[in-house]
Amino acid sequence: MAGGTKRIEIQSQQRLKSLMRDYFLDLDAAAKDPARRVAWCTSVGPCEILVALGFATYFPENHGALLGAKRVSHHYIPHAVGAGYCAESCSYTTADIGAALRKYSPLQEAYGIDGPPRPDVLCYNTNQCREVQDWFQFFGKHHESPVLGICPPRYLGSVSVAHIAFVRTQLQQLVADIESRFHVKLDPAKLQEVVALSSRASALWRRVLDTARSSPSPITFWDGLIHMAPVILMRGSRVAIEYYEELLREMQGRVESGIGAVPAERFRLYWEGMPVWPRVRELSEKCFDLKVSVVASTYCNSWAFEEYDGGDPLEWMARTSTEIFINRDEVFKQSFLLEMRERFAIDGFVFHNARTCPNNTNSRFGLAQRLRDEHELPVLVVDGDLSDGRFFSTAQTMTNLEAFVEQLAELRTPSRACVTGGGKP
Ligand code: SF4
Repeated sequence: MAGGTKRIEIQSQQRLKSLMRDYFLDLDAAAKDPARRVAWCTSVGPCEILVALGFATYFPENHGALLGAKRVSHHYIPHAVGAGYCAESCSYTTADIGAALRKYSPLQEAYGIDGPPRPDVLCYNTNQCREVQDWFQFFGKHHESPVLGICPPRYLGSVSVAHIAFVRTQLQQLVADIESRFHVKLDPAKLQEVVALSSRASALWRRVLDTARSSPSPITFWDGLIHMAPVILMRGSRVAIEYYEELLREMQGRVESGIGAVPAERFRLYWEGMPVWPRVRELSEKCFDLKVSVVASTYCNSWAFEEYDGGDPLEWMARTSTEIFINRDEVFKQSFLLEMRERFAIDGFVFHNARTCPNNTNSRFGLAQRLRDEHELPVLVVDGDLSDGRFFSTAQTMTNLEAFVEQLAELRTPSRACVTGGGKP
């Protein structure tokens, strides 16, 4: 176990620490170098275009998550509220805005830099939510930098050729806007190269996540929350590929040796929705104690894109960014979760009702209930938030998790094998 904590240490994490350090120091250097440019980008935004145009890319959602993980969001959210943002709107956004107003960043202690790099441009994609647009508008004004973005059709059942063509046109316009503002020219071959690198890292990440199909699972959702950083922050780079090759080797080695992330794994759960960043450690340790492996999640899967086949890179970007789970309708989401259940041999689903992120919370319109009633799947809904710890009761959630695991155990006993239902959505 790692340093007294209840987890089996993943060796590749040492490399990850140095990659993260290099990434943030380089961003800081890029922001201070008049010859370089920095772009802020949303997590499934037009990153590959920005990288191909030579921008260093920074992702504010990561900063929102860091503020949550540091358990300081509640100190800064009131400052965003004072600036007119509702305390129940996205806590990544409000914590990040509040921290900027107070000139605080966890990057100061972690890497000795002032904080997020000043953007030359901010580029969003509202495929995940409109909040990112408002978030970026704030920082565009704050830094006097242009804000550009695309707005794909939302909540799609199937994604049609017309949808993709529409998004592709927006991406083309985005390229044209950046080219004219910064007097640069996108090299199509360079974009193809960056998309190929991005897709390769994403495919490797998917293979890492897929090792969790083994029982015991070599990796959990809690590990994934740490190790997914390069597939978001370093998309389009070779270092991300090398990192996931190493991590995959390590996970495959665990599978071959029968090493589980949770020793004596009893149950396998699926985590639906956002992480509870301020309480990841407690939740992970509780699962460890209960011998529960959270083997799959919507969240970590959000950056496992379809592989690029060498065709039109803008079309690949349009399709992959529009097809993401968060941008789909309830019918698609239900069938995706059922597929994941089969794929990962899931015993039960935990839905996180994140108070400030309705966009990535799927327990609000009956989906959890339908999984339980129509498919006899055990389901638990926990109330909380992604970043604002004030919306999460640790004691209540731990009690609910314990009761849920007891239910799973009962369902497994031969005399109760035909009992239907499970946790209470
Ligand atoms: S998806 Fe949710 S957490 Fe992410 S930026 Fe949008 S509102 Fe915030």
